[in-house]
Amino acid sequence: MMLGHREFDDLIAAGCRSCAGQFLRAWAILPGSLMVSGGEPVSSVKWSYERDDIHDLVYRVECRDCAAVLYERSDCPKCGAAGSLGRVLGPGHGPTPPLQCPQCEYEDLRLSAQIRAYHEFLHRRFSRRVCAATLGEPGFQVYQIDCPSCEHTVASTQAHACIACGRSSLLKKLR
Ligand SMILES: [Zn+2]
Ligand SMILES: [Zn+2]
Ligand SMILES: [Zn+2]
Repeated sequence: MMLGHREFDDLIAAGCRSCAGQFLRAWAILPGSLMVSGGEPVSSVKWSYERDDIHDLVYRVECRDCAAVLYERSDCPKCGAAGSLGRVLGPGHGPTPPLQCPQCEYEDLRLSAQIRAYHEFLHRRFSRRVCAATLGEPGFQVYQIDCPSCEHTVASTQAHACIACGRSSLLKKLR
């Protein structure tokens, strides 16, 4: 299940339970956007979340020294669907960027995605963030494509589908 803000901070502060190491890595699925031109990435990821507020999006915390897993979940960090983490980290199931905007033919489009990434912490402090997937790789879930020229939304995941795992919320209610 998901970590609360406090639980996450406590987990990082405690360090590794096995080796007492203080170098931890927190894997998460994080929101960001990317520019593509002719369907290919032309920018780095621009993140769109608060750096100190990832606790609910974290799916694994591990020790960088001994590889002990200190926390792990298997539900979707975004919608909580049981066992859906594999779909989040698997092949992309969202829309594929077209070569140009179907409305105005502009070639530079903005993709919004949920992206596999991690934060590293050294002695309780945030040390760096690494983007672990790029467009076309597993763990890069595109959920919306916009044209910055005419502001048309070119494509997006279906209204009832989770933007990370793709599961329909209608199905979830039925279960
Ligand atoms: Zn360790
Ligand atoms: Zn356009
Ligand atoms: Zn989901």
